[in-house]
Amino acid sequence: MTEAFAIVDPSTGAAFTEVGMADASEVDAAVRRAVRAQEGWAALAPADRARLLRRFAAVVDAHVEELATLEVRNSGHPIASARWEAGHVRDVLEYYSGAPERLIGSQIPVAGGIDVTFHEPLGVVGVIVPWNFPMTIAAWGFAPALAAGDAVVLKPAEWTPLTALRLAGLALEAGLPDGLLQTVPGRGADAGEALVRHPDVAKVVFTGSTRTGSRVMALAAEQVKPVTLELGGKSANIVFADADLDAAAAAAPGAVFDNAGQDCCARSRLLVERSVLDAFLERLEPAVVAWRVGDPRSEDVQMGPLVSAAHRDRVASFVDGSTPVAFRGSAPSGAGFWFAPAVLLPDRPDDRVLREEVFGPVVAVQAFDGEAEAVRLANETAYGLSGSIWTRDLGRGIRVSQAVRSGALSVNSNSSVRYTTPFGGMKRSGIGRELGPDAPLAFTALKNVFYATGEAPA
Ligand code: NAD
Repeated sequence: MTEAFAIVDPSTGAAFTEVGMADASEVDAAVRRAVRAQEGWAALAPADRARLLRRFAAVVDAHVEELATLEVRNSGHPIASARWEAGHVRDVLEYYSGAPERLIGSQIPVAGGIDVTFHEPLGVVGVIVPWNFPMTIAAWGFAPALAAGDAVVLKPAEWTPLTALRLAGLALEAGLPDGLLQTVPGRGADAGEALVRHPDVAKVVFTGSTRTGSRVMALAAEQVKPVTLELGGKSANIVFADADLDAAAAAAPGAVFDNAGQDCCARSRLLVERSVLDAFLERLEPAVVAWRVGDPRSEDVQMGPLVSAAHRDRVASFVDGSTPVAFRGSAPSGAGFWFAPAVLLPDRPDDRVLREEVFGPVVAVQAFDGEAEAVRLANETAYGLSGSIWTRDLGRGIRVSQAVRSGALSVNSNSSVRYTTPFGGMKRSGIGRELGPDAPLAFTALKNVFYATGEAPA
């Protein structure tokens, strides 16, 4: 039976539509359709698959404003960010549209014949995404999978299914075969688990919390099914005394408050060399106060509301008076899930704000003495997803980036994701990599065939 789930505008707290939550039988029907669609898709000439993916990118491009507006309403993302996200989906599709004609195997020298490798499609891939970046994370899964010759069943998070549903509709409008990219909204415990358990789903790409990722991995293990896991983070932004403090402080709010901190790459720990701690905080405070939080429909707003009331309560539990607060930014009051950015100065090393992922606009500042302590503190976490290093010393930038156990680091920058470079975590932040030139290969099986040439006739 399909349950109706109320979709809420986080900036008003009011429900504006409902979406049916699929059960296991609906997931099964979607996977069956995907199996049929994939057979036809894989049989198409590589150039035809490439052309259809380019057309899909063009149709997304023509709907950037519509997708962005939908995301503002469903997720509370600021319009400028949502527009960037929709454009990013187009770019990712364009980038991987070159892949069908470049899935190149190798010819290996052997005795007695010829040995050739082939990158064959896996079949149907299940892509399960979280609510924080509903469009972009979905595209990181479905674009390289489609390029590899696979079909995709996409399960968005319960709260934020609207852009994922629209993208599957746009795929059809672009001429992709019916059933090749399907969005099946549903609850994790029902539709999510049904997708992971389905015997005709050859691989699962999961993005979400470490706890659920571990459950998905255990379920997939029952069928020896490959998984890519993009999980949580507790990334450090390390500022050395020799850094350009003005630049580091000006960039620090965006590194953790972007998307209201609901970002797996959020630099939620700010490690500052003790000798410049005061000078840094003096620069950080005006940048935090100036951070513009408000109606996500406004063009110049930098941060909207949190995704739900329950999530806001969880974030607020980190700012409950038990940890000293250095200063806060501002946020609207009234309806909507608003939360003013907060800069904390924890005085106990076991403070949970230093250990747990907040997933909200809260940053914890810690002082360190010297490079070795900076590296030790940065690595003092179960996670290893992202992070930044601010220094004018090139050698130190290289040394520290090699010592910090994270999958995606930036020196004198807070960037994390480019679709042209690989992205993913170490430790409990995940397994496998998305994006970058090799991503389609993760959606193929490598087959090796030896062709015996035999003896030449006498
Ligand atoms: P979540 O783990 O609760 O849910 C993620 C998705 O999994 C949702 O679609 C959910 O419905 C589904 N799900 C839940 N239980 C399931 C189950 N038993 N089987 C199959 N699917 C199930 O995470 P969330 O709260 O939606 O997202 C926030 C988390 O995602 C944070 O921890 C964040 O760091 C992480 N995240 C990671 C990345 C990355 O690339 N590493 C990117 C964005 C978010």
